[in-house]
Amino acid sequence: SKQLQMKGIRKAFSGVPALRGVDFTVQGGEVHALLGANGAGKSTLMKILSGAYTQDEGAIIIDGLQANIASPGDAKKLGIHCVYQEVDTALVAELSVAENVMLDRISAKGSRLWINWGKLEKEAEATLARLGASIPVRKKAGELSLAEKQLVLIARLLTEQAKYVIFDEPTAPLSLDEAERLFHVIEQLKGEGIGIVFISHRLPEVFRICDRITVMRDGERVFTEPTADTNVDEVVHAMLGRVFEEEYP
Ligand code: ADP
Ligand code: MG
Ligand code: MG
Repeated sequence: SKQLQMKGIRKAFSGVPALRGVDFTVQGGEVHALLGANGAGKSTLMKILSGAYTQDEGAIIIDGLQANIASPGDAKKLGIHCVYQEVDTALVAELSVAENVMLDRISAKGSRLWINWGKLEKEAEATLARLGASIPVRKKAGELSLAEKQLVLIARLLTEQAKYVIFDEPTAPLSLDEAERLFHVIEQLKGEGIGIVFISHRLPEVFRICDRITVMRDGERVFTEPTADTNVDEVVHAMLGRVFEEEYP
């Protein structure tokens, strides 16, 4: 079946453990929230998945096959992509929306002479339309709002055959309307069978758009539950390791 599994993942920095044997699975076509207080290990776990870090121990199994992810390039080839908050570093400001969406294709062609620009713009438009988004494809990427830049990056993932996408606090810089638009886009990705990891500290949106919730604390997984089978109190308790009220006796 279509799923990305992480098993017994351990990682230490200068001898200090950040991940102490974490199991985590995301299914194709689900939105899986990864929650935890600051320092719980969420980003480290996802950086191992996206090839930025290498685990000390543990296995990554993609659609049943053990994967060796030694670099971000390896992760991309396996269909694993990450949408970080720093969208600007992933876009070329001077290039158009169409060129940014189709960047992989353009790089593959080698020379700009071989590119059919009309066809490229149509494909970029069609890819944005698959996400329910419309952005003028001849506009320079540098002139876009942050929310539009995020959409361009997500459209690019589709042209690169993404199978699993990690969003690390994607709504933190967005307005409420922009966040709504992103949730619609995530629904479209889910509908295409893509597995999504959604890291956020905003519990209302997590409960609205996620199918399952995994809570981490101090480098360990506390639980994984269908969103419908848990509630905000349980999640907060698991994140903090104690009953929330204890702080306010
Ligand atoms: P989260 O994303 O849940 O806030 P992180 O994965 O960023 O947690 O951090 C988990 C732990 O690992 C923290 O104690 C953090 O200080 C440590 N850590 C993460 N990255 C590094 C690094 N590159 N060097 C040293 N320590 C790190
Ligand atoms: Mg952190
Ligand atoms: Mg983090």
